[in-house]
Amino acid sequence: MKRYALIVFSIMFFSCSTATLTSVAIDQKLPTKEDDILESKPHTNYTIKKDVDAYPESIIFIIADGTGIGQYTLSYYANGEFAPARFDHIGLVATHPNDGECTTTCKRVTDSAASGTALSAGEKTYNGAIAVDNDKNPVKTMLEWAQENGMSTGLVATSSVTHATPASFAAHVDYRKKEHEIAQQYATADVDVILGGGKKFWPDSLITFYKSQGAQYIEDINTPIEEDKRLLGLFAEKGLSKVYKGDREVSTTQMAKVALSKLDKNENGFFVMIEESQVDWGGHANNGTYIKGEMESLNELVNYVLDYQEVNPNVLVVLTADHECGGVAVHDSDGGDLEIRFTSEYHSANFVPIFATGPGASVFDAFIDNTEIGKQLIKYINKN
Ligand SMILES: [Zn+2]
Repeated sequence: MKRYALIVFSIMFFSCSTATLTSVAIDQKLPTKEDDILESKPHTNYTIKKDVDAYPESIIFIIADGTGIGQYTLSYYANGEFAPARFDHIGLVATHPNDGECTTTCKRVTDSAASGTALSAGEKTYNGAIAVDNDKNPVKTMLEWAQENGMSTGLVATSSVTHATPASFAAHVDYRKKEHEIAQQYATADVDVILGGGKKFWPDSLITFYKSQGAQYIEDINTPIEEDKRLLGLFAEKGLSKVYKGDREVSTTQMAKVALSKLDKNENGFFVMIEESQVDWGGHANNGTYIKGEMESLNELVNYVLDYQEVNPNVLVVLTADHECGGVAVHDSDGGDLEIRFTSEYHSANFVPIFATGPGASVFDAFIDNTEIGKQLIKYINKN
């Protein structure tokens, strides 16, 4: 009887939040058992050990926000395709931030700003920091290094273009929510192509100023592109519409096509960061269907970019995530469908994969700290 009561108790209180791909997620937090609280030991930041065997001319850096092994597994079974299998090299990445006081022991879970800065500048920093260090001093990003080397540069996102991940490449603010200030910094940052959502952070006066600097502004991806001008395209007030709703304004691949057609005319090469932003939001929402749709978009993007790389072999393509989100795991449901379970409505510290193809890709066959990706790509951009 006692045992029975314990089982009922367990089912009631120890069940994760679950969702099959056709049902709504149940928001429920797991209670924590004493045995599951572990002391954290100082962690080593693992570095890249391999020597560089080739330098790329250009870099396409895809960041799938909030996309860990669980999200890839979900997509493999629910979408019937795993496009990243086409990459030549694969590794694993630790994503913890640096939160000052407790640099090595008390923070494992990062946000997109700290990890965006690790990826863009190779700098460990605090959660919320957009390309600034722990003392809030600006750190130079790979996009800025690319500009200094005469390369063309671009940012593409399915969130607001001023959201934490893209912002970490072309703005410097002490707190990620300052998206109006980030838009103002973009207006003078000389990025050649910026495409995504977030109109609400660009008042008319800022758009007018931006155009007066010799740039083109579009709200429809089919607008003819003026070759000699920088390009800003904003296709939604905030983030783009969710893929599974069926009314996304523009696909990530469409934006990538426009960006590449503009950027790849420069003989000095180009750098572009393309973010599949909303896998993360599907994790926050504990919604398997949301994640499935965004992963479908990522598959399409990966296939397009790797096809492009096949005919442009001097381009290095890197795909990774800033962190995992939702603590996603894939299970069999009783009816033979998939049952997606979540352990959190926030990010987890779980390692995320990195995939790479092209010159310089082989160094990523390793277990590394996320700052190593930033440092390595900056090395490639500076050819040192
Ligand atoms: Zn998130």
